Amino acid sequence: MNTAAVISVGNELLNGRCLDTNQKWLSGKLAAMGVIVRGAYTCPDELDTVRDLIINVCGSVDFLLITGGLGPTDDDITREAVAAAAGVDLEFNQELYNVIKAYFDQRGLVMSEKNRCQAYLPAGSAAIPNPVGTAPGVLAEISGTLVASMPGVPAEMYNMFTGYMEAIISKKLTGHTVTRLVKCMGIGESVMAEMLGDKMLRDRMPLINCTVSDGIITLYIQATAGSKKEADEQAEKEAKEIRQILKPWIFSESQDGPVEVLIRELSRRGEMLSLAESCTGGLIAKMITDVPGSSSILDRAWVTYSNESKIEELGVSSSILERYGAVSSETAKQMALGALKNSRASVAAAVTGIAGPAGGTDVKPVGTVYAAMAYKTKCSVKKLFYPQGREVCRNRTAQSVLLMLLN
Ligand code: ATP
Ligand code: MG
Repeated sequence: MNTAAVISVGNELLNGRCLDTNQKWLSGKLAAMGVIVRGAYTCPDELDTVRDLIINVCGSVDFLLITGGLGPTDDDITREAVAAAAGVDLEFNQELYNVIKAYFDQRGLVMSEKNRCQAYLPAGSAAIPNPVGTAPGVLAEISGTLVASMPGVPAEMYNMFTGYMEAIISKKLTGHTVTRLVKCMGIGESVMAEMLGDKMLRDRMPLINCTVSDGIITLYIQATAGSKKEADEQAEKEAKEIRQILKPWIFSESQDGPVEVLIRELSRRGEMLSLAESCTGGLIAKMITDVPGSSSILDRAWVTYSNESKIEELGVSSSILERYGAVSSETAKQMALGALKNSRASVAAAVTGIAGPAGGTDVKPVGTVYAAMAYKTKCSVKKLFYPQGREVCRNRTAQSVLLMLLN
């Protein structure tokens, strides 16, 4: 198993002025490489604190990635902390000085005396080039742990990691790790976990991790084996089993979200879509048009909020509205059929519901939504119930409609 820890250095990360995005980004990169991050720490610009943390972490993980504190100012103490943790002195490096000097010269800038400190390295360590900034990184080994210190400025750190550290870490990895994605929609996390049973256990291989965002569950299948072929086979076997269990809810096995998949599917079939939205007020149209390429599949969309607009724009009959109400299976169906008839689309989706907070009744409580799909030869309606508040209701409804369109 390959393990790592991440340390973010900077007072600004502890006083609410700056969110530690470096840690999130690095942990994601490491996870994608099959490296398990065992700990992430944030500490102030204090030499002793950073030194002690480095000493504590080194020896227990394969890689330690530090960001921040490599600048030329007095509060930048990471170089000193790494040297102190390694028990060595900082040494002036003429070659490194020349590189930093050239960075300034190329830009017609005067190099301040302050920047001279950036040409010092802990004895026995190497510099990591920084083509987009003045602070070189530091690559050292302490108690068997490879320690890489990188700048705090996110763009400089991204550049240094992808340009150098990714390859350096990759070469040192033992075994091969393959990560596969499976994305699901329209199912709750706990129900899904129950269906997957033992597959969610923490000590098994492949390991399955799961994240939930905006009603989309992403499963990460991580298989580690002696060879890439073996890891691939293990991940595929696992993906196949998960496909069998979660088939109705899976919409993607890549980074693509539901709209990307919908655009691809409808384009492949040469079909166009139209929408008639009441409670979502155009949210579904927004989600679709947020994605480039949507013009090839979206013909038009109506926001028909009032009863009158449902009648005038979509041909919903007033007797249906009177008898069943605007929030009803019958109205949703007529909205979808009207959207299909009045457009060039071969599939139409319609939603009508009570997002709340007011407007619910005993029979139709807040959160009740009807979503209809109309095709040339058939029309189906699904009753949804999202009573968790206006925003959740509208978001989940839109997600559910996308899923229905994909099925
Ligand atoms: P330099 O001083 O040369 O800019 P540095 O390595 O000393 O580089 P810091 O001074 O620690 O970097 O950080 C510079 C800026 O980068 C911070 O003010 C902050 O805006 C941003 N930054 C630092 N650390 C992080 C982090 N962990 N996540 C997100 N942004 C960060
Ligand atoms: Mg700093």
